[in-house]
Amino acid sequence: MSDSNTNSSLNAAGNQWLGNLKTNLDDEAVKQLDSAIKSSKFLAEEINAAGEANLGVSFDKNSAGILYNSGDEKVHIGSDLSGWEAQGLTAAPIAHELAHALQINGNPDNVSVPDQGIDGALEKSHTEEGVAYAAQYIVEQQAGLSDGLINTKQQSLTSTLSAFAQQNGIDVSNLGFDPNPPSVSADQQLASVAGEWSALANPSNAPNLTYDQSTVV
Ligand SMILES: [Zn+2]
Repeated sequence: MSDSNTNSSLNAAGNQWLGNLKTNLDDEAVKQLDSAIKSSKFLAEEINAAGEANLGVSFDKNSAGILYNSGDEKVHIGSDLSGWEAQGLTAAPIAHELAHALQINGNPDNVSVPDQGIDGALEKSHTEEGVAYAAQYIVEQQAGLSDGLINTKQQSLTSTLSAFAQQNGIDVSNLGFDPNPPSVSADQQLASVAGEWSALANPSNAPNLTYDQSTVV
């Protein structure tokens, strides 16, 4: 087939996994993903890990959300991906869900990424959510994407993580993906900050409203 079907940032398993994903995405989403993979080492390594783990993907055009379900161990991509695509952010929720699916201690059941700045997040585990938010943040930074995290919360998680990275001398542009990283690694430190932040953040001024209660699944 043509050269556009392989990506030099990926190994054979990663390219095969990505090829399957692409058959269910439209041209614009494919373009955004290819571009992000070329500039994000972390995303390329997540996709290689997905290929090596033979991670399943299910396309549910009639359902909302993009999520990892630890019950069937598949990433489910629903109609919401088009909303991310419209913002140029196709790679962001994929990076987020791959972190849930692949990283040790990163897979709460049925976790959905936040949805267009409204309240589409089912956050069963705020701490483990940090792993996925950190992955999303790293990929957005490496690929030069606009901020897909900021719209979902009152405060900016992105600026919180950027400040932490700067204070601790973490070079985000150089971070790679490790399915089982040591707790002292830079991405795990970012995940810890993101998890703490996520647990404290509320989606509105309602004092008792948490993400779990505000979710439409
Ligand atoms: Zn999540």
